[in-house]
Amino acid sequence: MRKTVPGATGMTSAPALTSGGALFLGGRMESLASGVESRFWSYVDKAGKEACWLWRGGLTSPGWHGKYNLVYADGERVSMTASRVAWLLTNGSVPQDLCVCHRCDNPRCVNPRHLCLMTREENTRDRDLKGRQARGSRVGSAELTESKVRYIKQRLRRGIYQWVLARQFGVSKSCIQHISSEKSWAWLT
Ligand SMILES: [Zn+2]
Repeated sequence: MRKTVPGATGMTSAPALTSGGALFLGGRMESLASGVESRFWSYVDKAGKEACWLWRGGLTSPGWHGKYNLVYADGERVSMTASRVAWLLTNGSVPQDLCVCHRCDNPRCVNPRHLCLMTREENTRDRDLKGRQARGSRVGSAELTESKVRYIKQRLRRGIYQWVLARQFGVSKSCIQHISSEKSWAWLT
């Protein structure tokens, strides 16, 4: 069946991100209708190889993410986020139960170089963190705690950009660099 509910199995531990066996939503390139790929990219403003590529098509409600109706060869349409489609078109499949997330923290971006995979659990934690920041509890002087550093290390392993984490936690980029290179907090895993 193609219309598996994403994350319906209730993920509790991080899967190996390299296991490409399971496919999400039957997302196989070869079963897509012809012309889908060029039509999708025609909605994308490709600013430059390393820049954010902004989605110019329809948006999800309340409008944070791009939205695209993927059309399969048999005529079936499946609505998914534009970043998910960008991942699928670039990599051939989307592993089951994983979320396609933004290394650049720009929800409208569909540059495949800026996309990464996270578990639903990680994605929910990210959203909670951003919600707290939006309510104004971000502290400029930013003391890092062990749990925050653990979170930062995990996100670095997923490919989230250092400057995004620095901004999220209100610390300098060199502070994140030191965590990345294990000049500080090396004992934490
Ligand atoms: Zn981007």
